[in-house]
Amino acid sequence: METTTNHKLADIENHVKSGKLKNSSIQSTNPATNEVVKSFEEMSGSEIESALSIADKAYYVWKITTYEERANLLHKVASLMREEKDALAKLITLEMGKLLKESEGEIDLSANIFDYYADNGAKFLADQTLKTEFGEAIVRHSSIGVLLGVEPWNFPFYQVARFAAPNIMIGNVILLKHASNVPQCGIAIEKLFKKAGAPEGIYTNLLIPGSKVNALLADKRIKGATLTGSETAGAGLAEAAGKNLKKSVLELGGSDAFIVLEDADMDKTVEWAVIGRMNNTGQCCVASKRFIVVEAVADEFLEKFKEKLSALKVGDPMHPDTQLGPLSSEEAAAQIEDQVKRSVAAGAKILLGGKRIDRQGAYMQATILTDIKPDTPAYYEELFGPVASFYRVKDEAAAIELANDSPYGLGGSVFTNDIERGKKVADQIDSGMVFINHPTWTKEDLPFGGTERSGYGRELAELGIQEFVNKKLIRVSALTDPF
Ligand code: NAP
Repeated sequence: METTTNHKLADIENHVKSGKLKNSSIQSTNPATNEVVKSFEEMSGSEIESALSIADKAYYVWKITTYEERANLLHKVASLMREEKDALAKLITLEMGKLLKESEGEIDLSANIFDYYADNGAKFLADQTLKTEFGEAIVRHSSIGVLLGVEPWNFPFYQVARFAAPNIMIGNVILLKHASNVPQCGIAIEKLFKKAGAPEGIYTNLLIPGSKVNALLADKRIKGATLTGSETAGAGLAEAAGKNLKKSVLELGGSDAFIVLEDADMDKTVEWAVIGRMNNTGQCCVASKRFIVVEAVADEFLEKFKEKLSALKVGDPMHPDTQLGPLSSEEAAAQIEDQVKRSVAAGAKILLGGKRIDRQGAYMQATILTDIKPDTPAYYEELFGPVASFYRVKDEAAAIELANDSPYGLGGSVFTNDIERGKKVADQIDSGMVFINHPTWTKEDLPFGGTERSGYGRELAELGIQEFVNKKLIRVSALTDPF
């Protein structure tokens, strides 16, 4: 199913311009050079049918395994990830361009997620005994069947881990459609399951484009679906799930506010601002995207922020000294450059950067935009790359009002030396997560998810294992004569 090609940059640019690149094929393109390194054929209709049928049969065996058996599998996957960390991390960097040390961190985090659900899943899913007038009543957490996961390229292992690990622990089985630009990562994850001894059909990688996803929701063997990605893709999947009366969970975009109050420790705050914006070259749903700083410290923040961003060392993401690598694709770089250009045309000013970096690959300068108004594209659009929007506001109340003026509701952060004040601000921010003195972040034991156009449902922690579960009532009564 795989062919090796070596297209040149001009071919790719032509594809991008004609809009054909994204869905034309499933391929690994190294964004540091824009060379296509490997292409894959889409699965045929009969291959998809076979995957569904095997997954469905596997479910009826998997659902009656014990928590211990499932935990053993998850632990084995986690150990294999750690053993193969170097190769897996290089694969992530090759396919989507994140800095190698960030790829290594992603593998560690993903392995931790597998271990976490192996260690805690049985406890989270334990029977709940209800108080009743007579007899016995328990809520049992049962599996529901084959689930479809649609995942993005920005964290090719972590996004899969947070969906697959809890659901396999429940007794559900997984069909995974990964983003078309990280096919080798998708295949590598399936191989890890095989190596770990997973019975066939417990975890299946579907090599299909996004356009083929929604039709699958009509198949009665699929019982639920999740999508992490754009609003358009999420809305389409939710529509198909709704039409077929199936549960869905959506983890979509975000435009997190990073609020700086006058009592914040400025040097540390600026360091976190750089990490919050630049982690994963700015391509995180929970990246700090809107820097909202109160007037009293706005100049100081901006000066220090600019200094740090302009000092980032650009280079090959495989090289340990590199601090700013490429975006995930030529298309992604072209898109953020276009957002900057449209914002400037609408009156925004560029304080730093603003252009593509003059080298081969999908590189974009670290950028700061100021003078952004509600009719500037950067005000409401998500900026998925190394471009920071800066806003100067009068005071705390104005900061909260601006933070909430967004179609998204994913994360957000507030920097202050007064933690109680920070908590009061957090209470007033309309989003799924608010961090005090840290950019929005993730860990296996913290629930993750958003509100409004950022989606619904939660992943990770105990909440994340409760989404695709049948909370089944089992009632025991004494056998009496009916009335
Ligand atoms: P995307 O285009 O929506 O792709 C995400 C996944 O959806 C891919 O597997 C893609 O497949 C598939 N897809 C695309 N169009 C589809 C459709 N019409 N129907 C069904 N599936 C479809 O997302 P992206 O732009 O690459 O990813 C970035 C977005 O994801 C950002 O908005 C980011 O904030 C969001 N995100 C959210 C979270 C979160 O947890 N909230 C985490 C990470 C990223 P193909 O690759 O084959 O098109």
